[in-house]
Amino acid sequence: MNGQPERLEVRISLGHPVPYAVEVEERRFSLLLYGAYSDTNWLRYGPEDPFLSAVRWEQVASDLYVLHLDLAAPAWGYRVGFERGALILEVRKPPAIDPQRPLRGRTIVLDPGHPPGGAIGPTRLYEGDANLALAFRLKRLLEREGATVYLTRADRRPVGLYERTVRAELLDAEILLSIHNNALPDGVNPFENHGTSVYYFHPHSLDLARSLQRGLLAAMGLRDLGIGRASLALARPIWMPAVLTEGAFMMIPDQEAGLRNPVFLEAHAGGLLEGLRDFLKGRAQ
Ligand SMILES: [Zn+2]
Repeated sequence: MNGQPERLEVRISLGHPVPYAVEVEERRFSLLLYGAYSDTNWLRYGPEDPFLSAVRWEQVASDLYVLHLDLAAPAWGYRVGFERGALILEVRKPPAIDPQRPLRGRTIVLDPGHPPGGAIGPTRLYEGDANLALAFRLKRLLEREGATVYLTRADRRPVGLYERTVRAELLDAEILLSIHNNALPDGVNPFENHGTSVYYFHPHSLDLARSLQRGLLAAMGLRDLGIGRASLALARPIWMPAVLTEGAFMMIPDQEAGLRNPVFLEAHAGGLLEGLRDFLKGRAQ
């Protein structure tokens, strides 16, 4: 066990790799090792780390070993993998956030959705272009508040989904925000089902999804479709809170027109800014 300034590292020596699972609750991590019998009778905490309140382990069955970590604050993210005969669990600590200027010093990756793919509006506005215009505006707003911002694409060339999430992980992003505008599959009437929605997948991204939904609703005043949980590539990263926003609807003529209009685009970007700021403020300690 090893406390780094930004993460807590737990190293478990194993004779051979075994299947594992991670269960995450707000302030508790459980690492389940299947087919593992441990003779743990001592455990090294390493230098004292206020982020870690307690460690417990139990041999639940002869072939199931569980290690529990109790944390002093919600984990920002985590990473787990094998390395030279050991299983390494890294739990990411919350960054030091200034409640007065919560965006200062943050590293944020913005992902303008598409290409490939993407919706096309009734007057042929391409979603990929609208998402990119929003990302450029939001980048400027965030930088003005002291954040470091990277985009997963800055032009119309296609970028794969996996490349986007790997990029965010390599940059050690503290937040990954994928920006989209919605469409519906054939057969669903968009005039009855349009509005604003935000998607998350892992529990550590839920608060961020809620804050962004509130920010978007307040800024644009579209219908509230609520947040949703979906296994989307851009919502699945575990090293940082990651969400995907569907701010407006490409298929609704006045919303498509809005996505061409600088005033509406600025409001949309402002709603995302507000959501990010609010989430970070809530996590300042
Ligand atoms: Zn999209």
